[in-house]
Parts: sequence; structure tokens; C-alpha cells
Amino acid sequence: MDIAMIGTGYVGLVSGTCFAESGNNITCVDIDQGKIDRLNEGVIPIYEPGLTEMVQRNHKAGRLHFTTDLESAVTKAKVVYLAVGTPQGDDGSANLSALWSVVAGIAPFINADTVVVTKSTVPVGTNKGIYDRLFELNGIHYRVASNPEFLKEGAAIHDFMYPDRVVVGVREEETKEILNELYSPFLRTDKPFLSMSPESAELTKYVANALLATKISFINEMANLCEKMGGDINDVRRGIGHDQRIGFSFLFPGVGYGGSCFPKDVRALASMSKANDLPPTILDAVDQVNDRQKFVLTQKVDQHFGGDLKGLRFAVWGLAFKPKTDDIREAPALVMIEQLLERGATVCVFDPEAVENVKMELGDKVEYAEKSMDALAGVDALAINTEWDVFRHPDFDAIKSTMKSPVIFDGRNLYNPVQLAGLGFTYYSIGRAMVKPSSDNA
Ligand code: NAD
Repeated sequence: MDIAMIGTGYVGLVSGTCFAESGNNITCVDIDQGKIDRLNEGVIPIYEPGLTEMVQRNHKAGRLHFTTDLESAVTKAKVVYLAVGTPQGDDGSANLSALWSVVAGIAPFINADTVVVTKSTVPVGTNKGIYDRLFELNGIHYRVASNPEFLKEGAAIHDFMYPDRVVVGVREEETKEILNELYSPFLRTDKPFLSMSPESAELTKYVANALLATKISFINEMANLCEKMGGDINDVRRGIGHDQRIGFSFLFPGVGYGGSCFPKDVRALASMSKANDLPPTILDAVDQVNDRQKFVLTQKVDQHFGGDLKGLRFAVWGLAFKPKTDDIREAPALVMIEQLLERGATVCVFDPEAVENVKMELGDKVEYAEKSMDALAGVDALAINTEWDVFRHPDFDAIKSTMKSPVIFDGRNLYNPVQLAGLGFTYYSIGRAMVKPSSDNA
């Protein structure tokens, strides 16, 4: 099938590449000429495990093309996917300016049989808006479908190739069949292809993200309570997780969720709720708890050192909003770094993949280490914000001898408090009591 994928970011590039992998002919379009040039040279602009090899293989095989030329991509396409960004607008609602600009841009080049599919996360009613806008521009009732994307950065290829389900919002049986055929290679293990109205499909994406965000804010609030009341959130988590009605997923306490989806999608859904005169009580609370949680680690720093950090040096491990991605949008680490700098500290950062993106944001406000251990030289404390696997089993003796003082603020509960105390570390984590460091090793 000939497909145009408009918007070649995390979602467009992964979706386009996976569709090419199953034999389709894909043209990825973007307005960013630099990005398209790099992709044509085989350079992948984002870090996503397994993506480089798959892009290069399909590009070489002639199934995956990259261009800024909308006309050439759209004219030959049977399906035109819209995968541009829908960031948060000033009032919390989704900013659809890129989407509307693409809708106007494709109108001259589509034909009566073209299927236009929205993969971007868009407010309820956008599908109908695109349908109406294309009719206004061309006088034709096109087939316009919604196909929200559920992939997770860091596991995007696996999620796309082996989805838990595919959701499509369609008006006509024929559109449903075209999309069913397109997805059939990915649904061979009997995972469901769920067709519904465009409005339900648009809502499904927001409701899924809002529920996942709710789980995170809930466990974070409970973690803070555990800490105050002498409980251990890890024990509580195990205690509830074995209940089959509850389960374990998305119930790991930390420093709050970030990324390009949860924060903006929770707010956009709240904004839709308000526009319909329904108070978004839970959604607002989820957002507030998350905003507060991003400060929890710095509060522990204040508690340990006092508010003034002048003359102190910190290492920060983990900058991406989660492991296995270089995405730093709304990353909790950036909030913490700003707090440390405001209090007068100097900061040296390390992340396995996200450093280049952070350099664009923070420039020379912080120092950058090439290796995790290099960041620790002479520091008064280490703060961990992202649970990259490489941080899980470090050489604690080497850490202790490299740091000026053995103090760790762990925002992801990577280590065992008793073990760390035994090694002489002052170790703060989330929702677990401090254990006094052993004086033998301090
Ligand atoms: P992104 O910012 O990584 O990519 C968007 C791309 O669109 C950019 O490359 C940008 O240059 C391009 N673009 C903007 N205007 C354009 C135009 N007029 N013509 C052509 N290209 C244009 O965004 P993303 O993370 O890929 O997200 C895209 C959509 O998918 C959003 O609605 C997002 O909410 C949704 N989504 C994202 C994820 C995720 O994990 N990132 C998961 C599911 C859904």
C-alpha cells in the first residue's frame, strides 16, 4: 500500500518504518529539512532501540522514503497519515496549528479515494473537523479516520509491531477494511482490531493516558504518605499488586511523569471536560500531584544540606524523562537541575542518550560527563532521576571513593536502603524510610 506519513517525529518515523517493514511503500514527510536530509543519509534524529537498523534496511530496500515535498508524497498515496505534534496550548488545550496547516496543505493533492487518518493525539471532534474542512476546501466528503497510537518511547518498535490492540475510528465499512488490511500483519497473535466512532477513538487515547498518569500520581501520593508514617512503599506496592484487580504495572513511585504525552494529554482532557461543564476533579488532582512530585527530591536535598547550596557540587544521573529514550520533554530531571542551580549549586550531568538534547536546552549552565563515573568526581551528592539499566548495579566502592561525600538522592528507588546504609551511604529514596549509614563505613 502507498502511504504518506506527514510528520516524521517519534510517532511518524516509528509508524512509517514499521509499515514499511511489513512491505508497504512509505513516504515520510516533514517540514524540517535538516531532519529529512539526515534521514536520507541514514542518520536517525532520535534514539529509539532498534530503529536505526530498521530505518536503514527499509530505506535501502526502497520501501521507505523521506522528503519535504508534500505533493509528491500525497499524490500517490492511498492512505495519508497525519502524525504531526499536538503540543499543549497556552490554555491547557491541544494546539492543533500544525495539524490544520497539514490538512490545508494536503487538500490540493488528495483524490476522492484517499483515506486520511489521524495518528496524532487530538481532541474529540477533530476528526469531524478535518472531514468538514476538507469538504469546505474541495467539495468532497473524504474518508477520514482516527487511529490513535499507543506506542511507548523506549519500546516503540515492539509496541507497534506487537500492539495490545489497534483502535480505529471510522465512518464507513470500507475504511475499516483498508485499515484492517494494513494492520493485519501486526495482529497475527489474535490481538483485537477495535473499530468504533471517530469520537470514541479520539477519547480512547486520552482516557488511556489519563488512567496511566492517574496510577503514577496515586502511587506517588501514597509513597509520600508511607514515608511520613513509617511504611515502605515497596512493601505496600507488593501487598496491593498481587491482588489481581490491581496488578503491578505503572505503580512504581518516583519523581513524577514527564514526556511529550502524559502531561499534555491529562491537561487537554481536563480542558475538554471543562468545556463540557464537567469539573475534571480527578484529572486536575493527577496533574497537581505530578507537579509537586517533581520537587520531592529537591526537598530532600534541602532537608539534608539546608536551602543554600552555594559551593556544593551535584552529579545528576538520568536526564531523559524515562529510560531508553533521548526525549527530555517535561523531564523531571530538568526541574531538579533548575532547582539546584537556583540554590547556588554546580551540577555535572550524565545520561546514556539524552545529553545532546539537554545541551540544546541548558547550554553551559551545567557540566556534561561522558561516563557516569566521571560525573561523580568531587561531588557532594548524586541525584538519580531516570532508571536506566546501567545505573542499577554500579560499583559502590568506586562511587564512594570518587564522591566527596557519599550522599545519594534516588528518585527511582534503584537501590536497597539497608545495603547502601551498610556501605556507609546516606541514601534518600521515595516512600521508604532512611536507614542510618553504618558508622563502620561512613
Ligand atoms: P514530534 O514532535 O516528535 O514530531 C512531530 C513532527 O512533525 C516533527 O518532526 C515536526 O517537524 C513535524 N511537523 C510539524 N509541522 C509539520 C508540518 N506542517 N508538515 C510536516 N511535518 C510537520 O511528535 P511525536 O512525539 O511524534 O508526536 C506526534 C503525535 O503523536 C502527537 O499528537 C503525540 O501526542 C502523539 N503521540 C506521541 C507518542 C510518543 O510517545 N511520542 C505516543 C503516542 C501518540
